[in-house]
Amino acid sequence: MTGGKTAYMDKMLETLAPRIIELGAARDAQPHGNWRYAMDADRVFWLLLDRPGKSVNVVDREVLEELNSVIDRIEQERPTAVVLRSAKPAGFAAGADINQFVGASTQDIRSMLGQGHIVLDRLAALSMPTIAVIHGHCLGAGLEIALACRYRLAVHGASLGFPEVMLGLHPGLGGTFRSLEVADPVEAMTMMLTGKPVDARRARSIGLADAALEERHVANAVAAIRSGEMRKGDAGLRRRAFSLRPARSLLAKQMRRKAAETAPKAHYPAPYKLIDIWEANGGSADAMRKAELDSFAELIETPTAQNLVRVFFLREKMRGLRSGKSAIAHVHVIGAGAMGGDIAAWAARQGFTVTLQDIDLKPIGRAIKAGAGMMAATLKNDLKTRDALDRLIPDPDGIGVAHADLVIEAAPERIEVKRAIYQTVEPRLKDGALLATNTSALPLEQLSDGLADPSRFVGLHFFNPVSRMQLVEIVSHPDAGDETLRRATAFAVELSRLPAPVRSAPGFLVNRALTPYMAEALLMVGEGVPKERIDARAEAFGMPMGPVELADRVGLDIALEVSASLREGLDGDFPETPAWLVQMVREGRLGAKTNGGLYEYEGGKPKKIHVDAIPDGAKDDADLEDRLILPMLNAVVAALREGVVSDPDLADGAMVFGTGFAPFRGGPMHYARDRGVDAIVRRMEELAEKHGPRFRPDAGWQALT
Ligand code: NAD
Repeated sequence: MTGGKTAYMDKMLETLAPRIIELGAARDAQPHGNWRYAMDADRVFWLLLDRPGKSVNVVDREVLEELNSVIDRIEQERPTAVVLRSAKPAGFAAGADINQFVGASTQDIRSMLGQGHIVLDRLAALSMPTIAVIHGHCLGAGLEIALACRYRLAVHGASLGFPEVMLGLHPGLGGTFRSLEVADPVEAMTMMLTGKPVDARRARSIGLADAALEERHVANAVAAIRSGEMRKGDAGLRRRAFSLRPARSLLAKQMRRKAAETAPKAHYPAPYKLIDIWEANGGSADAMRKAELDSFAELIETPTAQNLVRVFFLREKMRGLRSGKSAIAHVHVIGAGAMGGDIAAWAARQGFTVTLQDIDLKPIGRAIKAGAGMMAATLKNDLKTRDALDRLIPDPDGIGVAHADLVIEAAPERIEVKRAIYQTVEPRLKDGALLATNTSALPLEQLSDGLADPSRFVGLHFFNPVSRMQLVEIVSHPDAGDETLRRATAFAVELSRLPAPVRSAPGFLVNRALTPYMAEALLMVGEGVPKERIDARAEAFGMPMGPVELADRVGLDIALEVSASLREGLDGDFPETPAWLVQMVREGRLGAKTNGGLYEYEGGKPKKIHVDAIPDGAKDDADLEDRLILPMLNAVVAALREGVVSDPDLADGAMVFGTGFAPFRGGPMHYARDRGVDAIVRRMEELAEKHGPRFRPDAGWQALT
């Protein structure tokens, strides 16, 4: 038990259950590991969820089975009230144990959930007031347990939500009908469809919680419930309105339209299933309960749910690459442009002291302004935003270099500029400080040439925008020290980013894979294929953005530079750079940043013709999708063969979190295995025959069969 946890427990028991008798004895008497309980002098039954050896509670079959036997006990003891809460400082419960969903069949899930429903129905049917006290995270199955209590008290700082949709699912332990019964149904549906959590106050205002309060008021609130002084929240009018099918149908139509904007039905069935079951059964809790169970059990076997569960574990695996702490408190960033400014603001947001240097004052000012906006939008708390901004310190003279534990260089992508910076910075670094570069393509072994101590040098390749792209490639080179790599990896996790260790090689992993995707698209544009069709094909596959728009967003000048450097550094056949593209760049049509590139831009958005408006047959071709996607897969295979990235899972994680590669496909290598490595190799040979040697399958495919 950590010191923090002991202190928290003491405070909680002192404020919440001052009259608990012999909690220790009750704990010993408890036959099961995950729950602890005791009865106080007022015959209030205090029930704590406290999974041993874990810092957060997750809900699994065992937790529910044990709850069932605790309910036996409650029925025998007949307390005046039951208060159910968590003993973990982190919160009530983080949701279901996702391990249960790996490879689960409809049958397994139906039996497990069926049992779970029985337990929660028993909890809901207890005759005395049952009160869930919610602090911290209360997600998924945790919220479903809380919903089976008659009252919910949300402590300020709590976060209540249904994240199931991110795993290709919807709530399955009664969360659908119970949330719709207690809360405003539109709000409850929105929570389940988007996966976005609500805070305590919002939970109170939509009816999900009966009160939002400070921890110190919990005991009084429990007393008020026992004495009948606290009124139950009532979702009222709206709930009654949506008990009628026509009203639900009207809204269901809107919900489907909204869902389609972010989650196409073919790839993400869960939101549509939820809308369907609500539309059909929303007027009756019993019908909804049955439909929820059937629908959840069907969803669990879909490739989408299984692949999203896989992505969940890829994230865990990447986080797990951290060992120990980075021992970094002060970060100095050199170059306050697009990337440096973002990295500095994000690091300050995450609690690091940051000094930000640039040769020009203007970018520093812009970076701080943009950082303030990002912090306000993501922290949603004036005090926290102010504290984070206080940690972001303009430092045009570079005074921070001598104090920093880590210096990140994010200067322009020119080897001589970067080397000149290192020459002035390295002698001023304090003992044990790391020096990192955010280069996207320059070989680290060349950048480190001339450093007195290259072992402290590492690549920290962030993606744009840093606040949304979770990946950081941790780039090693032959002279990088193990301790440097370990600390850099830990630092990425401390920043709430996901590290992927890669070896210094042209384009590392992600840019190497994205370049052929964009290059092929540009060739297609040259062939006269409508650009909207190219983008639509890639998006239909599941890419977050088509390659033509992506090239515009990256900047056509940068795209040309990166592909030139890859061509120089890698063996293999690369498509010719189209002369018209070089001409466009010369004319200053660089993409979104100049409001014109392959598309014209208005208010930051490309003006696109809807694909349906493209005349039938205008350069359509069944090869388009494979021509875009397979070269990307081929590049990942080559990177694996060369040891740029160590294993296919990490490559998948890096591509999902660095490029948004179709998460419901589980990553490029998982997709390749699913489709069949032999089939892909044959298809690439076919494409090579038809379109040129750039499609030749890499030798690395053999190792994957
Ligand atoms: P940028 O041009 O927006 O910013 C570079 C900043 O460095 C400018 O503000 C400039 O004034 C400043 N600068 C130039 N010389 C300097 C010096 N000697 N000392 C201090 N500051 C100096 O560039 P960017 O897009 O932020 O790229 C920075 C690095 O990050 C590059 O290596 C790039 O390859 C890499 N990168 C860029 C992206 C992206 O999407 N833009 C993504 C990943 C990595």
